[in-house]
Amino acid sequence: MGIKYRRVLLKLSGEALMGQLGYGVDPNVVQEISTEVAEVVGDGVQMAIVVGGGNIFRGLKAAAGGMDRATGDYIGMIATVMNALTLQDALERMGIPTRVQTAIAMQEVAEPYIRRRAIRHLEKGRVVIFGAGSGNPFFTTDTTAALRAAEIDAEVIFKATKVDGIYDADPHQNPNARRYESLTYGHVLAHDLRVMDSTAIALCKENNIPIMVFDLTERGNICRAVKGEPVGTIVGG
Ligand code: UDP
Repeated sequence: MGIKYRRVLLKLSGEALMGQLGYGVDPNVVQEISTEVAEVVGDGVQMAIVVGGGNIFRGLKAAAGGMDRATGDYIGMIATVMNALTLQDALERMGIPTRVQTAIAMQEVAEPYIRRRAIRHLEKGRVVIFGAGSGNPFFTTDTTAALRAAEIDAEVIFKATKVDGIYDADPHQNPNARRYESLTYGHVLAHDLRVMDSTAIALCKENNIPIMVFDLTERGNICRAVKGEPVGTIVGG
């Protein structure tokens, strides 16, 4: 089977990098993810990555503990930069050229986010890792993924999770839960299915960007997904 998607936006949550740990980054997991990314990039796929930061800090959680929400969100965004640099290091050790671009300027460690420059990097075969979310508090990295995907004209968002798609009930609690092969944005929004937050889904809907939800922990899934194999659930128009 040939490559279906030539330009992909991969959304990696902080949790995805954490593996079985309770906090931080599991180097083995980062290694595995990087190996797969390297494989598809080697096949000519242009790959941009938005990383989350939930493995280190979440603004909303800090706000529940009394912290100012915006301050917490800024800390959360800075946490995503740590993950971005970790991923960059792993990919570069595999010989994959990468650039980190941050939505909050940190010129000593990364480039600022410049859309046209990001696209140029992709065209040259570099993996572009977007850190610091959207740069705005009260947003999420899921919404950032939708925004950046629209900006760089990605054909699809890969939302890598720990489950193999979207179910009509919690598969851990209900053995009869059914997995959807495809769903519309409207269905996801109307039933408040927790794939991505509603702002992210709405942005994808407006810009007609399909979202592929699949299990990252299963080796080879990123490669299968770029070929358009039905590895999870696809959300579209
Ligand atoms: N965040 C933010 N604006 C953004 C993206 C992220 O304020 O555009 C903050 C927010 O506090 C969030 C944290 O960064 O809790 C980490 O991001 P997220 O929770 O989306 O990470 P994930 O769940 O993907 O690990």
